[in-house]
Amino acid sequence: MSHSVTVNKTITFEMAHILKSAKTLACNATIHGHSYKMKLGLIGDINPETGMLVDFSKVSELCRVVHNHLDHALWVSTEKQFKQAREMGNEKVLFYPGIEPTAENMVIVILHTLAMSIVDSNVFDIAIELWETKDSSVSCILSLVSAKMLNVSCLPAFVNGNNW
Ligand SMILES: [Zn+2]
Repeated sequence: MSHSVTVNKTITFEMAHILKSAKTLACNATIHGHSYKMKLGLIGDINPETGMLVDFSKVSELCRVVHNHLDHALWVSTEKQFKQAREMGNEKVLFYPGIEPTAENMVIVILHTLAMSIVDSNVFDIAIELWETKDSSVSCILSLVSAKMLNVSCLPAFVNGNNW
């Protein structure tokens, strides 16, 4: 008898962005930041020998990758923004050409980045919920089987040399 479970871990990080598509001037014309909360969930069957789906330390390791990368970063999506940010002396600028730093896009980038690091065969899906504010979140579940079959790797590498 096997049971499907979700092992979760929640982290927080601070990140800045400019959202061209946002309605308010404060969001679409100004660099501003949010205190994000992210819940990572690994979904799969309990291994009857260990009694675990996955060791909590593995989930912590994956969360640490996200935290190290996004915490106190400025995410920009255009060449112009990237140049301006560097001229202003921002050290941790993440440049994803053409990918607006909305919570929706952030969830997809994080999912595809982490998917490649999960080798545990009993983990089938990976789930992310990302809160941009205390009560507004975006969530998505990615099937690891289809992600790996399609070889959907991480989205563009960073121009300033920061890799995940
Ligand atoms: Zn914002």
